Amino acid sequence: MAPWSHVSPHRAQICGTASSNSAKSRTSECLRASITPSATGVEAAGGRALLGVLSAGCARMTVNERATRALKEILQKPGNDTCADCGAPDPEWGSCSLGVFICLGCSGIHRNLPNVGKVKSVTLSRWEDSEVKFMAENGNKTMKAKYEAVVPVYYYKPSHKDCQVLREQWIRAKYERKEFTEEFVETGGKLPYEQEMREGQLMKRGRDNGQFLSRRFVLFERDGTLKYYTKHDSKVPKAVIKVDTINATFQPEKIGNPNGLQITYRKDYCTRNIFLYHESSKEIVDWFNSVRAVQFHYMKVAFPGASDAELKPRLTRNFLKEGYMEKTGPRQTEGFKKRWFTLDRRLLMYFKDPLDAFAKGEVYLGHRDLGYSAKAGLPAGTHCNGAWQHGITIETPDRNFLFTCESEAEQQDWLTHFNAVIATSMSPQEYSMEALFKRKH
Ligand SMILES: [Zn+2]
Repeated sequence: MAPWSHVSPHRAQICGTASSNSAKSRTSECLRASITPSATGVEAAGGRALLGVLSAGCARMTVNERATRALKEILQKPGNDTCADCGAPDPEWGSCSLGVFICLGCSGIHRNLPNVGKVKSVTLSRWEDSEVKFMAENGNKTMKAKYEAVVPVYYYKPSHKDCQVLREQWIRAKYERKEFTEEFVETGGKLPYEQEMREGQLMKRGRDNGQFLSRRFVLFERDGTLKYYTKHDSKVPKAVIKVDTINATFQPEKIGNPNGLQITYRKDYCTRNIFLYHESSKEIVDWFNSVRAVQFHYMKVAFPGASDAELKPRLTRNFLKEGYMEKTGPRQTEGFKKRWFTLDRRLLMYFKDPLDAFAKGEVYLGHRDLGYSAKAGLPAGTHCNGAWQHGITIETPDRNFLFTCESEAEQQDWLTHFNAVIATSMSPQEYSMEALFKRKH
């Protein structure tokens, strides 16, 4: 075992093979240089003891405190204080092949990239002086300018809160395929997300039996639709979905597949969910960004005066919160039943099962000035016959909605989200949506 292995049990993984070999040969040289003059004539046993002492001394030197101190200083430079790939604060890892500082999660992804994956811990690994110099000369700001020079507006740049598949494909697109560099564009590179038509098989969960079956999906840029067909050769699509009504989110846990994608759209004033996956992470993320690309092009036409920054948040969005609560019916005398809730911006939907195709009901949360509020507790005298005790009352101009949560922490978390939504001012589209819900219910 290498004498410095106590530095980190995962050293081989952290430093990569090349670096550990060079470190090893350096230590051997160090040992030879130190031992040779004085070891001559030393008894064999004594020589072994001396070797032990020297190797311990060398191990301390290999920790290379000087390099760590220098790296910590480089980390103070603007841009190096957040992960170059996901924006997580205080990155503690560095890619010494790319010259960027990254978080622990992204370092794991980098390590698996065959050509660019030499990552080291700022505090635990041994750094060459040349590597430290390389980090100082480059760093996150410089390398972002190179590798993120031309990221399309519609491309979803994941944060540290996003799932593994999104972060991994972003890192691969950025450094392996170099899709967002000036060179890629100059050499005529074509992004897979920008095609007039995208066609392929995706695994789709059956609405009634819950089985995943292969279905043909076609995304058309020109008419802004996503269609799917139940039979490979069928001419008539099972569904034609307008992209401007689509919200796509990765839901690996709920769907039970690391590449699980949920597509939600509105049809006849109802929310409809479809659950998809593809065996290939790249394929499913390409589909996701292709949907966003079509949505973006559609919006550019629909809102010609709007800036890119205004349109970007109108593409797909993550749900604010999902989870179980219990609810009672409109008369509030029925029993409390456990339901799966999804808060999508102002829309609170509930489902019997998290993977249901249709919501059982929807509550639109307007601004507080219109008579909406959310508070802890249930009205006095509510017959609370459910299993859970932590109540929430949502008031709307039409009626009160009563919910219970399993724990106080869940109750507080839901309330925080409801109150944030209710306090946010409404857009003209949200006013018309709110009016529509009032008419409907
Ligand atoms: Zn990161």
